[in-house]
Amino acid sequence: MRLTVVGCSGAVPGPASPASCYLIEADDADGRTWRLVLDMGSGALGALQRYCDPLEIDAVAISHLHPDHCADLAGLHTYLSYHPDGPAETLVYGPFGTASRIDELRGEGTHTRALTTFAWQTGTPVRVGPITIEVESVVHPVPAYAMRIEGPSELESRESAVIAYSGDTDVCAGLKKVASGADVFLCEASFLDSDNAPEGMHITALNVGKVAQQAACDRLVVTHLPPWADPNATRVEVGMHYRGALDIARPGMHIVV
Ligand SMILES: [Zn+2]
Ligand SMILES: [Zn+2]
Repeated sequence: MRLTVVGCSGAVPGPASPASCYLIEADDADGRTWRLVLDMGSGALGALQRYCDPLEIDAVAISHLHPDHCADLAGLHTYLSYHPDGPAETLVYGPFGTASRIDELRGEGTHTRALTTFAWQTGTPVRVGPITIEVESVVHPVPAYAMRIEGPSELESRESAVIAYSGDTDVCAGLKKVASGADVFLCEASFLDSDNAPEGMHITALNVGKVAQQAACDRLVVTHLPPWADPNATRVEVGMHYRGALDIARPGMHIVV
């Protein structure tokens, strides 16, 4: 699998990055490339076109319905509906209510075929070509899911690889479950320990380090830093507990697993 960071700004887009959006690509045994997009936050659709044509997206996986994770579904709907090579369709997996959220964002409720929505169900994996997605409920002010994404490895030494994605969450059992033994753990860190963050909303950098270390993740990519956050302070705090390979996400970051 190949992971590309399209957008990694937390809460709102920043001067250098759209809000949350990650592209996962995997080739099946016949050589066809499958494309899965994790979240479509504000500003993501423009940057996504640097890495693929949105007509080629097989599925979109939405962690939750805050605008920094789903706002550009409206633009995706327009792109798929009006592109001269279309109309095209894609599948959107998300929390219950995703279809009506898309209507709200579009400002109209005329359903067309461009986006077909399915509600996440924990315990029921979703398959997108050679990629399998399992979700766990996590702790956030709205229904939210973390994802465990398994697919073919492109490293010679192994057959499959796991990318774990936190979405937005505080520390919880679901987050620990998706992260367990992941090759790449893409985890938000919206606060520092010193921020006196409200409980049940976001995870602190200190706790990201603890969770990733306990989960024995090979590589940790810390993401969803708001434009006002200090990446260096975040890195120091995560590193107080985590001993593996550590990166702060940046747009265009490309990881092969
Ligand atoms: Zn967010
Ligand atoms: Zn959120």
